This record gives sequence, C-alpha cells and structure tokens, in this order.
Amino acid sequence: MASIEQKRPGPRAATETMRAAVVEDFARPLVVKQVAKPVAGQGEIVVRIETSGLCHTDIHAAHGDWPVKPSPPFIPGHEGIGTVEEVGSGVTEVVVGDRVAMPWLGYACGNCAYCVSGWETLCLQQKNTGYSIDGSFAEYVKAYGRYVVRVPDGVNLVDAAPLTCAGVTTYKAIKVAGTRPSDLAAIFGVGGLGHLALQYARIAGGRVVAVDLHDEKLELAKELGAEFTVNAAREDPVAAIQKLGGADQAIALAVSPKAFKQAFGSLRRGGTLVFVALPADNTVELPIFETVLQGITVVGSIVGTRVDRREVFELHAAGKTRVITELRPLDTINESIADVEAGRIPARIVFTP
Ligand code: NAD
Ligand code: ZN
Ligand code: ZN
Repeated sequence: MASIEQKRPGPRAATETMRAAVVEDFARPLVVKQVAKPVAGQGEIVVRIETSGLCHTDIHAAHGDWPVKPSPPFIPGHEGIGTVEEVGSGVTEVVVGDRVAMPWLGYACGNCAYCVSGWETLCLQQKNTGYSIDGSFAEYVKAYGRYVVRVPDGVNLVDAAPLTCAGVTTYKAIKVAGTRPSDLAAIFGVGGLGHLALQYARIAGGRVVAVDLHDEKLELAKELGAEFTVNAAREDPVAAIQKLGGADQAIALAVSPKAFKQAFGSLRRGGTLVFVALPADNTVELPIFETVLQGITVVGSIVGTRVDRREVFELHAAGKTRVITELRPLDTINESIADVEAGRIPARIVFTP
C-alpha cells in the first residue's frame, strides 16, 4: 500500500488539548496537566496512546542526569504503543488504525554512513522520543511515520510497551556481546531491562548468572531462566562469578558505577563487558593492565534499530519471551518513579493514559 495517497481529514487546528505528564523543572516532580494536542506535519503521524512503559531513562531525563540534557518543559516516555489517528502528507509507512510502537530513536536522517550501514542508532541528526521531542506520557504523541514500528497481532498492547525499549535494547546488547551456546552471561541488574536481557541471553544459547540487590528480583530471574543468582547486597558478585569460571559476557544494566566495576571483575579472560545503563555518576575506573593482559573487550550499546525491534516482536509473538509488567494510571507518575528508584517494582511499570 506504500504508494497510495491516504485519505485524511483536512488539517486540524492546534486548539484541542490532551492530558500529559510534563517535566517543568529537573528539581521538581512531573506535573500532569492539559497541554496542546499535537498536529501531524509532513512525514509525521499522531498516535492515540494505549500503553507506555516507564524506562529508567525517563527518570534520568526528568532529573536532567546526563551530560546532554533535554529542555523543559517536555513530555518523557519512549515505550509508547498506540493507534495511528492522523497521518501527515508524505507518510507511506503506516495508515490510520495501525497499531505502532514509538521508540527512543524517533527520527534519523536515513542518508548518513551510520543510517545506511545498519547503525541508524548512531545517526548524528537523530531525535529522541521523550527527550529531544515530546514522548508518550500523554494521551497523544506525534511521531515520524518512518521510525515507528508496527506491532504484530501476536503481541498484546501491554507487553509491546517494555519490548519497545527494554526489549530491543537488551536484545541488541546480547547481539553486541556475542553470546553463543554454552557461554556464561552475567546480567547485572534485573529490572525492566535485565529481566528481558537474561531471556535473550538464553535464546542465544547462553547460561545466565543474574545479579541484583533484591531477593524478589533474583527469584524472578530464576523463574525466567537464570541458572545462578547473586545478591550483591550480601555477597561479592566478582568472587561468586569467578567461582563459576568467570563470565564470557557481562551486561551492565544496574544504575550504579560500582556494578560496572564488578561486571568487569566477573569476566573470564577474553570476556566482553557491555555498557548499557547510564547512571548520573558518569565515570567508572577500570584497570588498564588487566584489560590488556586478559584481552577484555569493553563496548557501549545504545538501544537497537527498527530491524531489532521487528525481531523482538517476532520472538515475543512466537512465545519465546515473557514480559513482567504492572499496569498503573499515568497520574501515578511521581510515585511510580520513586518505586522504580527504590527497586520496589517487579520489572516494568506500564502506564495507561
Ligand atoms: P530499572 O531501575 O528497572 O533496573 C535496574 C536494576 O538494577 C534494578 O533491579 C535494581 O535493583 C538493580 N541494581 C541497582 N543497583 C545495583 C547494583 N549495585 N548491583 C546490582 N543490581 C543493582 O532500570 P531499567 O529501566 O532496566 O534501566 C537500567 C539502565 O539502563 C538505566 O540507567 C537506563 O537509563 C539505561 N538504559 C540504557 C539504554 C541504552 O540504550 N543503553 C536503553 C534503556 C535504558
Ligand atoms: Zn528506555
Ligand atoms: Zn543518519
């Protein structure tokens, strides 16, 4: 259907409003209020949000934790799932009524060396949903038709939300890590990302050791297929994982530089450490001598491409992954952030507007 001009109502005036959770100040709670409903411009669509996951990245965004900050006021949210309600001129990728996911990579140029070589996530002209452009903690969101991904029928609206960032990011991280059958993959942090990371490591054929500070998270990790667990609040994960022979890959998903250091120490010779979490405290000290003599690889991994997202949805539709969610209304945004920060959430909160 790509070349058929879609029927659409004439341009809508930007006078309608919608409810949204807005970051007005990095030092203050979000404010849930009425704001202008977006209107689709060229290449853009407007989507009615049905579900939207709360990623720890939204919390970093709301606090202004990172070296590159968003500009308040803005609406966070980059695990939005909804139905296309309006398409702007030139949109050929989706039609009104399609169910789509709106990821962190909201836009890329499509022409640079990164975009054309399968690394659109590194595009210098990218726009990030819920960060540099408004996100999905709202009734409606505007998105670029080219960068949304259709949600297949076999994936429900609630599971689709965490898969859109937590799923795609950890699926990519396991690809980058190169986990193969019989490898031991150490998953540091069993939160929204970690509970999916360990399942992708298993799908790749790996054996999994999961590390967290909370026993309930480690229980969940076991249920989802982790063979070993370590509670880093009680036991040194470096010693525990070295006793298992050391990890072939360690995936750093815990929001703590200390956990990155422990992930490094847990590796066996030739191992790979993948940086994924983005703690506000932006530095970690790693030893040069051991990195060189033990042939360690350290690599950063940022979300995933549209192809990764299709693969993640396909795997889920095929029954290969389980997404653990807790549904809450968007009004609970500030308590929900506090609960995630305190590690009180089984895996992922999903908002309904
Ligand atoms: P989360 O809060 O759901 O999960 C973090 C988990 O780490 C929790 O279970 C917590 O108990 C655990 N933890 C905290 N300190 C620990 C420690 N010292 N040792 C072991 N476990 C510890 O967060 P999330 O949504 O999974 O996101 C995790 C991080 O990944 C965030 O910093 C987020 O911004 C980042 N992120 C990065 C990308 C990317 O593309 N690189 C994408 C999404 C999220
Ligand atoms: Zn995210
Ligand atoms: Zn580009």
